Amino acid sequence: MSTKHAPSQIELEIHGMTCAACVFHVTNALKGVTGVKEVTVPGWQSGQATLATEQTVSEAALITAVEKAGYRAAVATHRQAAAPQQPAGNDPQRDYDLIVIGSGGGGMAAAIKAAELGYRAAIIEGETIGGTCVNIGCVPSKTLIRAAAAYYNAGQHPFKGIQTRAEGVDWAALIQHKDELVTELRQAKYVDVLAAYGDSIALIRGWARLKSDHEVALADGRVFTAGKIVLATGAKPRLLSLPGLEQVEVLTSTTAMSLTQQPGSLLVIGGRAVALELGQTFARLGTKVTLLQRSSHLIPEHEPEISTALAEALRQEGLTIQTGVKLLAIREEAGQKVVTAMVNGEEGEFRAEQVLMAVGRTPNTQHLGLEEIGVKLDEQGFIKVNSRLETTTSNIYAVGDVTGGPNLVYVAAAAGGIAAANALAGEGKSLNLTILPDVIFTDPQVARVGLTEAEAKASSYDIKTSILPVEYVPRALAARDTRGLIKLVADRNSDRLLGAHVLAAEGGEIIQTAALAVKFGLQYGFTLANLREMLFPYLTQVEGLKLAAQTFEKDVAQLSCCAG
Ligand SMILES: Cc1cc2nc3c(=O)[nH]c(=O)nc-3n(C[C@H](O)[C@H](O)[C@H](O)COP(=O)(O)OP(=O)(O)OC[C@H]3O[C@@H](n4cnc5c(N)ncnc54)[C@H](O)[C@@H]3O)c2cc1C
Repeated sequence: MSTKHAPSQIELEIHGMTCAACVFHVTNALKGVTGVKEVTVPGWQSGQATLATEQTVSEAALITAVEKAGYRAAVATHRQAAAPQQPAGNDPQRDYDLIVIGSGGGGMAAAIKAAELGYRAAIIEGETIGGTCVNIGCVPSKTLIRAAAAYYNAGQHPFKGIQTRAEGVDWAALIQHKDELVTELRQAKYVDVLAAYGDSIALIRGWARLKSDHEVALADGRVFTAGKIVLATGAKPRLLSLPGLEQVEVLTSTTAMSLTQQPGSLLVIGGRAVALELGQTFARLGTKVTLLQRSSHLIPEHEPEISTALAEALRQEGLTIQTGVKLLAIREEAGQKVVTAMVNGEEGEFRAEQVLMAVGRTPNTQHLGLEEIGVKLDEQGFIKVNSRLETTTSNIYAVGDVTGGPNLVYVAAAAGGIAAANALAGEGKSLNLTILPDVIFTDPQVARVGLTEAEAKASSYDIKTSILPVEYVPRALAARDTRGLIKLVADRNSDRLLGAHVLAAEGGEIIQTAALAVKFGLQYGFTLANLREMLFPYLTQVEGLKLAAQTFEKDVAQLSCCAG
């Protein structure tokens, strides 16, 4: 075992990580080793940790630290940190310094970073510029969710008698409004932004295929060369292999948001973000919705209290939720789609005018020529990358949904910027997902950051938890919307916040403050006591976070105004 002189970059294989809490343990253990400046564990599934050191660090000390935390480690690579390179400008031998395949959030961020560093980039796009988020993902879904909320609340709002719901939805107008916003944002955030970079970023239309680690071929026969390549080809809706599916057309998130007619009834297969967001949207607009979920709970990765309360809120609105469903087959009968399934041991049938399958995404890796040049895929078919976004083939990087991991546009964009900086300027940066705030845009919204109670316990933390029903949040009382709860998970010994879990109207607006508390707890020892000392504006939803922190030591029902 050797000792290297630093600053250096060390990549460790970590064995034994089984849940998100392990990321915290391994990170903390490695940070405790003298000389370690930065630690990135991209997620427990990654089985790796990347370290930047500022001085000599013994490999043995790192391995021992990981072992003491209850895991095993081996050094995969240990090298001198690369000095940042100066922008080199266009290599006259090649068409571009960087070719990016895909113009979604990941690809755009990579090309923009390349241009900012002074390099010449090209984006190759086979379909619509902007990729999933703006065209068929975040933007259309969120505007439909808002429209459905306005429509629904006009009839259901607690300030009874003030508003009444209009008669029926003008479906064509709704879809047109959605399409207009998509067109507007695609133009403003993708087309115009690219144009503003002038010659620094070329947009090339066509389906790309890798010819080598420096060459990309288009279907029309053109070939472009570059020093480095970033794959940002995204993913598409996954369809389950269900007997009968070849004969029955089902909806995906993409086609559901472009229907020309509102279905009278809808079966939604799935119980996570996209299924719940679209299921509630259709239901609020007047479609009879039944959700079929395989697991025993909706959103099983979240706190059970949140999952149960969310299911209750959705049932209150008239959605039917069936959990523990094992799909058997699908068929079409008398103009209806019929799904047969085992439900808690008994066979049953579910019928509706349409079926939406929202069970995750499958990566766009076909016809890319990956195998021929040694770019390896993981067991689920996603492109394998390390924390620096390097694939198994030199000069080729991959980012975003095509690499698996959380399907979130801000993760894809962060990865795109890092991949370009690493590829072109040798910055050696890692994508750090240790603190990842995440929102499901149901109403009430589900938002989480950090560890659940079960994850924290599995990592042997001595924990304490608090649960604050939203009915104690003055903002919620004023709005007459007290659905939901805030659950905090903290380390009893250090008083640090390990996780925050929110179900509340606009809960997404609360979570970033919690994310800062978790981050600064991990990095600088910020505690729940520190959080309680802070001033929170009255009446805001985020004040609920302070109240939830106070719930650890006080009965919040006894508090006076302003979380005093
Ligand atoms: C319904 C829905 C709602 C969502 N809501 C949210 C949300 O609220 N917040 C959030 O953060 N995320 C959300 N997401 C996820 C988010 O949209 C994705 O994580 C993100 O867009 C992925 O970006 P990407 O750059 O990896 O890929 P994409 O945006 O999918 O871009 C990939 C691009 O590559 C192109 N391409 C593929 N292969 C080739 C090839 N061979 N040659 C040329 N071009 C090619 C494709 O045409 C596409 O344009 C949502 C997703 C869906 C489906």
